[in-house]
Amino acid sequence: MDIESIRSEALTCTKCRLAETRTQVVWADGNLDSEVCIIGEAPGFNEDKQGIPFVGAAGQLLDKLLGEIELDRSQAAVVNVIKCRPPGNRDPQTDEIEACRPYLSAQLNHMRPQVIITLGNFATKFILDSPVGITKARGQVYARKGASIVPTFHPAAALRGGRFGGISTIDAMREDFQLVRNILDERRATKEAEAAEAAARSEQLDLFG
Ligand code: URA
Repeated sequence: MDIESIRSEALTCTKCRLAETRTQVVWADGNLDSEVCIIGEAPGFNEDKQGIPFVGAAGQLLDKLLGEIELDRSQAAVVNVIKCRPPGNRDPQTDEIEACRPYLSAQLNHMRPQVIITLGNFATKFILDSPVGITKARGQVYARKGASIVPTFHPAAALRGGRFGGISTIDAMREDFQLVRNILDERRATKEAEAAEAAARSEQLDLFG
């Protein structure tokens, strides 16, 4: 099934109890054809009302951190582990995550992203398929299924103003976003070197007539 058909199916999904309390399904924002995918936890109050992920305060902080590494939502997809708001913003439950799994899987299969930023515990555990929490997991890059995975704190945690290992949560996030910038810069440098080599070789072919 193509991604548009899966999206249409998701918009009327009733596979879990969240269908009874949501205003609407929150599918994705940004560019689902880009090489960067950002995965949050679940829609909150504002997202449920507007139908767009990360439109509230956490989203504004996310956009700011993206801007600091010269990215915006035209260059990254923004999605959540679960597509419907849990009542009162409680944690998603295991059966809700499982019911929603095919939608995130379909989004990732469609995108085949080169870089996945996981925000907070739920997205990180989902993507790394590991019980290790975000505090331990962050600060490094993981390779999974051809993608570089960069786990970081959820922006809501940074908004709460916590500290982590001597630095603020937001500065820890900045370090993690810099890892993303480095990966993208390295990929661009590799692509440019390959293009230059291909150009040099085609010139060489001409030399030999
Ligand atoms: N928090 C999330 O994890 N996702 C959103 O879309 C909004 C807030």
